[in-house]
Amino acid sequence: MTTPIYADNAATTRLDPAVLEAMMPFLQDDYGNASGLYRAGRRARKAVENARQTIASVFHAAPSEIFFTSGGTESDNWALKGTLHKLAAKGKRHLITDVIEHPAVLRSADALEKEGFSVTRLPVDHLGRVNPADVQNALREDTALVSVMTANNEVGTLQPIRAIGSLCRQAGVLFHTDAVQAAGILPLPADTLPIDMFSLSAHKFHGPKGIGLLYARRSFIPASFLDGGKQENNHRAGTENTAAIVGMAKALQLAEAHRDEQAARMRSIRNFLAEELKKIPGARRNGDPVDCLPGILNFSFESIDGESLLFALDLAGLAASSGSACTSASIEPSHVLLAMGVPYAIAHGSLRLSLSKYNTMEEAAEIVRIIRNAVEDQRGVR
Ligand code: PLP
Repeated sequence: MTTPIYADNAATTRLDPAVLEAMMPFLQDDYGNASGLYRAGRRARKAVENARQTIASVFHAAPSEIFFTSGGTESDNWALKGTLHKLAAKGKRHLITDVIEHPAVLRSADALEKEGFSVTRLPVDHLGRVNPADVQNALREDTALVSVMTANNEVGTLQPIRAIGSLCRQAGVLFHTDAVQAAGILPLPADTLPIDMFSLSAHKFHGPKGIGLLYARRSFIPASFLDGGKQENNHRAGTENTAAIVGMAKALQLAEAHRDEQAARMRSIRNFLAEELKKIPGARRNGDPVDCLPGILNFSFESIDGESLLFALDLAGLAASSGSACTSASIEPSHVLLAMGVPYAIAHGSLRLSLSKYNTMEEAAEIVRIIRNAVEDQRGVR
């Protein structure tokens, strides 16, 4: 069998060999605890702070605004719960978010609601976009935080975060964005974007798993929810994962250095796939075809069961997904597609292809062939 084609990069990406190389010394020789007062500890501390500096400069931020976490899920939980818990004392007990967020945000909002906080979940249009006017109308005297993602992980639609952030700023309300899918692909200049906090995760841009960060503007840091040591300036307890932090900085640096050329390449492969897949009878593209990430493509096929399709694709050597990694193991159709008004039966036959810098045009032609055959097989027309 030929090497399988990997087109599930929104779920996770392959570690870049240069990232692994940068990490190795901190796994083998310089493994000291960054809080240690001996040489190995001092080396680890220096590596962590250099990485923080590198990351801060990519985002036009101050190093003191970068907080290392275990990934996107933790950063989202921290931003939402830590902000609401901290501002509750000032009578601000209202959160605004939307219905197509990642479960890390959706379930955090549910948990806050169970604690007695008030949550507004905004709808999206048929392209998966939040209307800034809806944010404006939902803002209240007691609103603590608005959380709207930068780009959706299932359909790739970009949200109008600049407009939403500006509205929040005018109202004196904090704005958080889950930038997990956007980081490393779109620029996120913290000095010009009206954003107070953003989350990201290294394994989405060829860094290691289990490491991410929360950017928090100097003026507001959410309440910590881990009790323990004084790491991260007393805001996030736990021994620093030096090798992973170094790997994340290297991955981000590489992504930043090649951002435009890699985005253009992914976009041309994605456009080819979109053109070819729409020729399959009963195919429908989901998401915004213009304001979207360059590497995500979501299609539904009439009279097709998404799950069986994924198994057939896997057998034929194509790794793809029906949506987010968390929902691809369940038989429920995607909450994102349903919120966009895609009919239940059609949402059931959906497929997400997500590309990275490692995908090629040759693979794209093969992807089309594999999908066309699998759809025809399932419909019994081949
Ligand atoms: N937010 C979005 C938009 C994601 O796509 C993901 C991962 O799929 C996460 C959050 C969670 O990130 P992590 O896997 O680092 O916990």
